[in-house]
Amino acid sequence: MADVDTAQEAPRRWAKDAIPVAEEVPPFTFVLVKLASRCNINCTYCYWFRDAEVYNKPAVLTIEAEDAFCERLEQHIEEFELDHFVLIFHGGEPLLFPKHRFVEFQEKLLDIEDRTGCEISRGVCTNAILIDQEWADILKSYNVTVSVSLDGPPDIHDKYRVDFKGRGTHADTLRGIECLRAEGIEPGLISVCNPQTDPEQVLSYVVEKLRIKEFDILPPDATHSDNPPQISDYFIKLFDVWYDKYAAQGVRIRTLDAMIQGLVGNLSVSDTVGLGPIDTVTLMTDGSLEPLDVLRIVGDGSTKTDTNVLRNALQDVQDDPRWRESFEASMQLCETCGRLSVGSTIQASIAKVGSASSLISGKGFLQPSLSSIRRMPPHRQRGRTPET
Ligand code: SF4
Repeated sequence: MADVDTAQEAPRRWAKDAIPVAEEVPPFTFVLVKLASRCNINCTYCYWFRDAEVYNKPAVLTIEAEDAFCERLEQHIEEFELDHFVLIFHGGEPLLFPKHRFVEFQEKLLDIEDRTGCEISRGVCTNAILIDQEWADILKSYNVTVSVSLDGPPDIHDKYRVDFKGRGTHADTLRGIECLRAEGIEPGLISVCNPQTDPEQVLSYVVEKLRIKEFDILPPDATHSDNPPQISDYFIKLFDVWYDKYAAQGVRIRTLDAMIQGLVGNLSVSDTVGLGPIDTVTLMTDGSLEPLDVLRIVGDGSTKTDTNVLRNALQDVQDDPRWRESFEASMQLCETCGRLSVGSTIQASIAKVGSASSLISGKGFLQPSLSSIRRMPPHRQRGRTPET
């Protein structure tokens, strides 16, 4: 699993009127921890392996990097007197990390909590295929929240989320979800939209069949130069079905939340949509620190920095030119989007799609949005009311 679900966990520490100038990056309170740089399946849309650099990284987080990270984390918490920190365990597939090492890592984190008094919230994003009774026990006993990648019913999920023989993985993922539920863990869900499918099918499957009310449906990761398929019709219908049928039932879809936040002029905490800072720090398996890992779709080594927990403090990455470039791109409209003949809040709502998800390879992170998404905000001005 490699789809980032930081909006669910990352603290909302940026105030609407406090878009920082470049020098002012508050102390980090969230790190995406890559426990594995390999995966047990072979999704055709996977962004992670578009960057060959990941194959040069150790298959799992090295013990040296793990220990150095724990040391840096404790120093960071003490230096900035933090009372809450968030770690999301990620991959590749993070559950390729050996179970005994996962347990030892959690114990080290609990020790840091004891020594510093700082609460360290932990979550894992997984394809759930490796979940068994033992993993479920471990995750439960260390209070690690779980987000599972599942794209909808089998015919939608199995089109792209396949194993190395091209076979669909829906049944295996569902087995993992059931194993978690048997242990009393209610997982979150992340789907990637397939614009050729009907979003109503995904919504009814997730809400009515899986009984999950809070989840996310993400645009597929692509650069502007990939010329990806239009996603506006999909998201327009998703919005309408959600608003007409599910909103009154308390169903929440984070990407739609982020779009609405952008429309009313608020900063977004989504990595994908809306104007708002992306201050994600990614810990790679060799201890190196990078910006938001999805940005690696731009090409080989595109998220590489010169910082590593073996040599640097966590906060040092803010001064690395590559990390800084991605951070600043998330706070601005590129020239093309700035010229759009739409209101400023609508510009804000589309900005992140340009800066984080549709980069032009080799031309930096501040690039035009996917043009198709421009149709979406005006659509919402029709004045619909949800059915009750
Ligand atoms: S689960 Fe799929 S999307 Fe996630 S890392 Fe593995 S291949 Fe990539």
